[in-house]
Amino acid sequence: MVVKQGAVIQDVSCLFFVSAATEERNIIITALLTFHQSTCIRFVWRQYFHQDFIHFFSGTGCWSSLGRQSQGQTISLRKNGCLYINTVQHEVLHALGFHHEQVRSDRDTYVSILTQNIEPGMESNFVKVGTNNLGTPYDFNSVMHYNKFAFSKNGQPTIVAKSNPSLNFGQATDMSVNDIARVNRLYQC
Ligand SMILES: [Zn+2]
Repeated sequence: MVVKQGAVIQDVSCLFFVSAATEERNIIITALLTFHQSTCIRFVWRQYFHQDFIHFFSGTGCWSSLGRQSQGQTISLRKNGCLYINTVQHEVLHALGFHHEQVRSDRDTYVSILTQNIEPGMESNFVKVGTNNLGTPYDFNSVMHYNKFAFSKNGQPTIVAKSNPSLNFGQATDMSVNDIARVNRLYQC
């Protein structure tokens, strides 16, 4: 059940609002507090005069827009399937401006994308982006990295590490050192 409770959260540049039952709210808040522990991002409850904010709700999956959206943006965290610390961190990192690790500008040096195994219609999730990477190395342990079978149509890998084709990745349970460094560099902490 989703209940609007006016609960929330915000950071130095973004504001957040949570509409969810208490147990779900606590997971979201715990995840937001991990940013307090490791970055300069601070979340506060949304107040009436705050124009830009993030509203967490239980939608059709786990998703977020990229970067700040005017007049509030939504982060969907489906009650069954998205309420994990790493998933909340992942979606909040999108809201803070970060792309998936496997689409970063230098990814072709580190991974091969096996397009023949990608589910039709899902190819756009693998299109490279002109990211500047903020001086951080390619990171298989990033909470923003997909796993090697993401959007596979046939159980075969869609992403393979060039240095070691049997490497497993995309299983981070927490933000990596590089994820944290990027936040602090982007927000000039
Ligand atoms: Zn994502």
